[in-house]
Amino acid sequence: MTRSIGSMEVIAFLDASGPFTLTPTREAALTGATAEDWEAAAKLDPGAFGRDGTWILNFQCFAVRRRGGRVTLVDTGIGPADSPASGWAPVPGRLPDALIEAGIEAGDVDTVVLTHLHEDHFGWSVDATGGPTFANARYVLQRDEVATVAGGPVEQLVVAPLRSTGQLQEVEGRVRLTSHRGDGITVVPTPGHTVGHQSLVARGGGDEIVVTGDVLVHAVQLANPDVAYVFEADEALARDSRRHVLGRARRRRSLLATAHLTRPFVPVR
Ligand SMILES: [Zn+2]
Repeated sequence: MTRSIGSMEVIAFLDASGPFTLTPTREAALTGATAEDWEAAAKLDPGAFGRDGTWILNFQCFAVRRRGGRVTLVDTGIGPADSPASGWAPVPGRLPDALIEAGIEAGDVDTVVLTHLHEDHFGWSVDATGGPTFANARYVLQRDEVATVAGGPVEQLVVAPLRSTGQLQEVEGRVRLTSHRGDGITVVPTPGHTVGHQSLVARGGGDEIVVTGDVLVHAVQLANPDVAYVFEADEALARDSRRHVLGRARRRRSLLATAHLTRPFVPVR
């Protein structure tokens, strides 16, 4: 599914879809929602409501294809069959095939933005050889996010290979990545889900799409941004970021491109 804004196209890729297995029910994963909140969420994203309280979620990545065919990829999904996400996510993902179907070769990707360093967002960042999948890309991460994995397995698996090829670009705060006659791509810090979580804002032709990462993980948080997700690093900060992103999107009539809702693009009402 594709949305055009100005000179850019934002393309959604479904890496995988399946039930959330880390909690027994959606109500155990998302706390503080009223019956009305759940009812509103079911209207916004009916596909997320499985039987017996199961939460069905998509694992979506996004590409921003710019004038000339260069591509900014946002997140790299759950990865192959033996990826770290395989303990809980419906591996293997199909992002590599989906990119080819959209006419995107790995070499076309000049930027990979990782919203954060969770297993279901960095899955295809490195290939079977352990080197970066996207050989021509800088990989953009917030410095705070990189710091949280220092000395651990994620540093070894993802950060170290990017560092050793010079492809890791650590940024601090809001950074404009591309700009062309008023159209542009900017990363913005949206901490809380993780310490160094970031989102991406693509702006073109007066329209805006916000690739949120995990600022919200379920439509119930669109219905009520105060609803917490149990795997947030800092619940209060995550709520502040969510309120800020949703409020701004509402004012600017931006579309949200979310990682885990079962529809890739959602408006904020
Ligand atoms: Zn996620």
